[in-house]
Amino acid sequence: MSHLDTTATLAAAERYGAAFLADLETLVNIDSGTYTPGGVARIAEELAPRFAALGYAVETQPGRELGPQLVARRRGRGHARIAIVGHMDTVFPDGEAQRRPFAMRDGRAYGPGVFDMKSGLLVGLYALRALAEADEEPYSELTFVCNSDEEIGSPESHDLVAATARAADVVLVLEPTADVARVTVARKGVGLYRLDVRGRASHAGVEPKRGRSAIVELAHRTLALHALNSTIPGVTVNVGVVAGGERPNIVADHASAEIDVRAADLAGVAAIQAALQQVAAAASAVPDTQVSLSGEMRHLPFTQSERSARVFALAQAEAAELGLTLRGEPTGGASDGNTAAALGVATLDGLGPAGGLAHNPDEFITIASVAPRIALLAGLLRRLDADAPDAPQAFNR
Ligand SMILES: [Zn+2]
Repeated sequence: MSHLDTTATLAAAERYGAAFLADLETLVNIDSGTYTPGGVARIAEELAPRFAALGYAVETQPGRELGPQLVARRRGRGHARIAIVGHMDTVFPDGEAQRRPFAMRDGRAYGPGVFDMKSGLLVGLYALRALAEADEEPYSELTFVCNSDEEIGSPESHDLVAATARAADVVLVLEPTADVARVTVARKGVGLYRLDVRGRASHAGVEPKRGRSAIVELAHRTLALHALNSTIPGVTVNVGVVAGGERPNIVADHASAEIDVRAADLAGVAAIQAALQQVAAAASAVPDTQVSLSGEMRHLPFTQSERSARVFALAQAEAAELGLTLRGEPTGGASDGNTAAALGVATLDGLGPAGGLAHNPDEFITIASVAPRIALLAGLLRRLDADAPDAPQAFNR
């Protein structure tokens, strides 16, 4: 690992500028919301030949109801088994790209999914291009998964991501970052739960006393759920959707709440699960109402293991060569990084370009962050390979 490698890769990444932005424009102007499988398939069709041109074997696995998964694989001359994961889907509806297509102004690029995470996919691709053009293959096997459904929790791609992670020494995730000097080293686990309340209907004017309002009962439970906030370290609870009743003149016989739960670690998961059960089992404020709880954790917490910390340290060393003091920070949002980290595989996330306002129409990336991020990822792959257990010159072990 020399400073020369880093400098040469950064120079290559800077030369890619125009091509990168042209590719980004192509990807952003294709609507690929999770529920637009045809658009996700078109993203896969754009990416596949780009991987093939770099010597990767490309396989497209059809989705069930959602879009396809693209898997690109290449054997190298190195020692590390690397997985790179990025998602092709966005949160935006069909027609969004036509309403506000790719645009650049004041050093920023805009458009649906530009930040989360079409630019991240391309940072991955261009890092591999920089290595290929330098005739470097610093891995024994590199598997790059582009999935179709991360924005809704990867229901169809979860098993592929998990199997890919299990077969790798290190998983690198291309989610975006708020700052070029920041990567993601921990993510909260996410649970989606639901409370259903059954009451008894009656005429609200004629015999209101015969009724048992499920809505009133749910209101009590909602307050109890929100009272759990700040009682368990690293855990948050939010009742984000409530529904119930039929008409204003009927005492409501049913009501339900959808609950988002976040937990920083497994102890928090256990504690909040117990607390949810308690809220569901507590005595009713409205007599004769029945409460039931359903749901589960969709993502387990991504906590920084010792091996993940090692990957972060190698990224820090490479960033230093690029003049960046890299910080590793936690976030409350989940990604496919949670799946990898929960399996015990060394994971580093937030390796895409810098920008902001994910899931918002004003979403953007800072164009100047693209080249350093390409160089960071390429350099990190070199360092991971040199650090692999059976590498001839494993350093700093
Ligand atoms: Zn994302």
